Amino acid sequence: MAMFDKILIANRGEIALRVQRACRELGIKTVAVHSEADREAKYVKLADESVCIGPAPSGQSYLNIPAVISAAEVTDAQAIHPGYGFLSENADFAERVEQSGFVFIGPRAETIRLMGDKVSAKNAMKKAGVPCVPGSDGALSDDPIEIIKTAKQVGYPVIIKAAGGGGGRGMRVVHTEAALIASVNMTKAEAQAAFGNPVVYMEKYLEKPRHIEIQVLADQHGNAVFLGERDCSMQRRHQKIIEEAPAPLLNTRLRDKIGERCAEACRKINYRGAGTFEFLYENNEFYFIEMNTRLQVEHTVTEMITGIDLVQQQIFVAAGEKLKFRQKDVLLKGHAIECRINAEDPYSFVPSPGKISAFHMPGGPGVRMDTHAYAGYTVPAHYDSMIGKLITYGDTRNQAIARMRIALSEMMVSGINTNIPLHVDLMADAAFHTGGTSIHYLEQKLGIYNK
Ligand code: ADP
Repeated sequence: MAMFDKILIANRGEIALRVQRACRELGIKTVAVHSEADREAKYVKLADESVCIGPAPSGQSYLNIPAVISAAEVTDAQAIHPGYGFLSENADFAERVEQSGFVFIGPRAETIRLMGDKVSAKNAMKKAGVPCVPGSDGALSDDPIEIIKTAKQVGYPVIIKAAGGGGGRGMRVVHTEAALIASVNMTKAEAQAAFGNPVVYMEKYLEKPRHIEIQVLADQHGNAVFLGERDCSMQRRHQKIIEEAPAPLLNTRLRDKIGERCAEACRKINYRGAGTFEFLYENNEFYFIEMNTRLQVEHTVTEMITGIDLVQQQIFVAAGEKLKFRQKDVLLKGHAIECRINAEDPYSFVPSPGKISAFHMPGGPGVRMDTHAYAGYTVPAHYDSMIGKLITYGDTRNQAIARMRIALSEMMVSGINTNIPLHVDLMADAAFHTGGTSIHYLEQKLGIYNK
């Protein structure tokens, strides 16, 4: 297939701008779709064309599949990039896009479906030789006696997770047999209500893991590579706040072994495009938890240390091109850190939408800022609170941290609250400097830890 002339970007905010930049660099025209709330956004005006697809609530706009597809039809776009969130991991959307004659810039619908069900994803990964968290083999039985037996074998504490879960929801930690059956039933009921799927499974609850994920890229000709790892352990309520690459203090031989398994798994399942294998990492062991079949927010840190533009690679792969590099050509150089800049109170995390009165972006060597915000921009209350990502790069981790501290001190956002003060604190935190903190570290530090 020839390279696309025009791509529709089915997303908003910083990632809509990020994808637009990749397209413009490749000489590809862009179509921005937007809700009524995003009509005035600068990236919408910068796009070659724009189409309003509905009112502010995302259910009526960014999640409105017929509206997105008809926008592609009226603008003659050839392909649709879904960004992250919204429709990016919706297998029905991917299917409808392709049935309507457009290219979905992402994996095939059946792959999204397979990985969207965490029980089937785990089974597929186990078969492909990727190590998983020990637990129930597949869906949990309905029989209380069987459930109790499984938990005994796995060993307490265990975590009950919804097969259809996502976004850190649909999980419950169980410490004792006495609480087990009630917890399973509650998780099932919640899973049915939230995801329309009552299936749950059980895993060993790891007490002090790190979140380490592997970036992969696969073409449609059987080639797959991994692009190193990212450490995303700095989280609050399972939401990542800081990400970095490479992961500090990680045995790189072990990393390469796991990375190769992930690439091999991609070949086995005929994966297409960019993807991420998420692992919990504890006591020098990797345990697969889920695969994200899309671009991640934190793809930037991988770009910084590999020099590879992941969005452009997604486009090349979707257009049917072969990967132009092999595993041995992927060189990880230096260190990158990303701070997610959110419009929220830095300590209570209460969202803070509204008009940005003054905005100053940091700069200098090794500083990258991906944001759609500017002075005069109004952060809508309807969507995610992330208004941008500040990324710094250095030859060493220390240099990346030093540059981040300077960049944060230069950055200014007035009119709304942001979490910049929290990032300033964390960049001065002794445990962060050492590296290798667990996924619970931030909540413990903030005193809001309740597992
Ligand atoms: P989601 O799709 O909702 O993000 P994940 O399976 O990726 O769900 O898990 C989200 C987070 O929940 C992980 O990053 C980790 O913090 C916690 N978690 C999940 N499984 C386990 C486990 N077996 N032990 C400890 N923590 C877990």
